[in-house]
Amino acid sequence: MHSESASNGRDTVVVIGTGPTGATAALLLTKAGVDVTVLEAGSRSAALGVTARIAGVTVFRLHRPMRARTSDVKITGDPSTVLYEDLAPGGLTNHWSCAVPRFSHDDFLDGERAGEAFTWPLRYEDLAPWYDWVEPLLAISGSDESVPQLPAGKVRDVRNLGPMWKRIATAAQAEGQAVVPVPYVYGLRTTLTLSGTVFNSFVRLVKPALGSGRLKIRYGMRATRLEWAGSAKRVEAVVARDMATGTDHRIPCRAVVVAAGTVNTTKLLLQSTSSDFPEGLGNAEGVLGKYLHDHPLGKLIVDLAEPLGFQPAAYVTRQSLERTPPLYAASCLQWSGVQTLYRSILQGHPGRLKSAGFSVFGTMAPSPANFVALDPDTTSEDGSPGLVLNIAFPKESETALAAARDRLVTLLDGVGLRPRVNLWTIDSVGSAIHYAGSCRMHASPRFGMLDSWSRLHAVPNVVVADSAAFTTCSEKNPVLTAMALAARASQRLVDDLRAGNI
Ligand SMILES: Cc1cc2nc3c(=O)[nH]c(=O)nc-3n(C[C@H](O)[C@H](O)[C@H](O)COP(=O)(O)OP(=O)(O)OC[C@H]3O[C@@H](n4cnc5c(N)ncnc54)[C@H](O)[C@@H]3O)c2cc1C
Repeated sequence: MHSESASNGRDTVVVIGTGPTGATAALLLTKAGVDVTVLEAGSRSAALGVTARIAGVTVFRLHRPMRARTSDVKITGDPSTVLYEDLAPGGLTNHWSCAVPRFSHDDFLDGERAGEAFTWPLRYEDLAPWYDWVEPLLAISGSDESVPQLPAGKVRDVRNLGPMWKRIATAAQAEGQAVVPVPYVYGLRTTLTLSGTVFNSFVRLVKPALGSGRLKIRYGMRATRLEWAGSAKRVEAVVARDMATGTDHRIPCRAVVVAAGTVNTTKLLLQSTSSDFPEGLGNAEGVLGKYLHDHPLGKLIVDLAEPLGFQPAAYVTRQSLERTPPLYAASCLQWSGVQTLYRSILQGHPGRLKSAGFSVFGTMAPSPANFVALDPDTTSEDGSPGLVLNIAFPKESETALAAARDRLVTLLDGVGLRPRVNLWTIDSVGSAIHYAGSCRMHASPRFGMLDSWSRLHAVPNVVVADSAAFTTCSEKNPVLTAMALAARASQRLVDDLRAGNI
């Protein structure tokens, strides 16, 4: 083990990961004048790619393929469960689709109906200023009008639905549901990015922060353990393996922001054992790893009597709380993109098609029976134990997806489009690539690892910044909310550092 000089690290915050949540934390901390060392598991060149976008349409994209992790993963729940990750600068934003809806008031309140275990320790109002902080970094296109179940964000390019979708929206409104343009990152922009998507968090957020002079990036460094000092009651160092040399480094620090993605964050904390925390760092009540959830995801294609617009793509919100059982709902996102555009041109009506495709994102009630654990029988590339993933979708998720599908078909029928379902499938667990919840926030350490500021209840100088923090599963895509939580937690960390609380 190579022990690095304590005087170098004493005032440094270590951020683990440069996906959207680690990037947000690194940016906010450096802007606030904090010295940050970023540990990134991927190599410097791992995220190379090119994306060209003209007026909101991606016309060229070169990116490396995304692979499922298998070699050190044991699946013990639904056998079709998959785990995708990308250990590269920018993480999964090398591949993502860039949809960024806010969670709504109701998304934070839904769980309360199901009992104490599902109650978030914060409200929409607590997070709203942090959505406001993050959104300008994303140059969002979408609606600037708040509707039930989807508050409007700080939108750079205001978009409006086409005439047919407006009629559908009016019919939906009568039943408390809304239809608006999907909020997208850089949605209406002409831009060239040296990465596999139009918004790679490393390229867009971390690289510019280098200009502050406060940021150090260490590539190919895989964090394997946070080192707890029982006498000081804090984490004093991060142990990371240099994957190029195989050497372990001990990096002293004042605080840590863990943003390695839900599963890797949980794994890292489980690996961080000590005599005070034999089951993982801060895991005094045995909840670390439990309550893992993912988005149940249905794929729907309908054939239509008349062509329907897809620019902007439509977002059909969930139904209200009164119309849905606790923790079960779904929303529909219309497909758009360059393939769809080419097909519409070939059909002779650019921007409209006589079929429409949708991703139907649903929810699942988090359960302690779904979990991430360590697998002592296998070994990961960095020498740490392998992983167990135990998760399955409850039956209620399928019912909620089917209800959203049927509701959408009824809405399309109502405007004379005579929809005929051509395809309906439900993807396997992990296909949405929205794992969350396995290191969740909760007012009580009995039900969650993190307090309302995303700090470990038992270890206040460690923040978990990614969607592992989600208390319950909303039907919305997770990144924007995870970034807002990361920003909020990072500002609190700055305040604590300044006040000498850490
Ligand atoms: C095809 C696709 C489409 C998607 N579309 C959307 C969408 O439209 N909207 C949306 O909200 N979400 C979408 N997602 C999901 C979204 O990309 C992820 O939720 C998001 O990137 C997670 O962010 P993160 O910062 O938590 O982790 P990640 O993006 O997974 O980043 C993790 C980072 O941590 C690093 N790391 C991991 N382990 C270690 C370690 N031990 N030490 C050091 N570094 C480590 C990784 O290298 C990486 O930099 C999509 C994903 C995919 C694949």
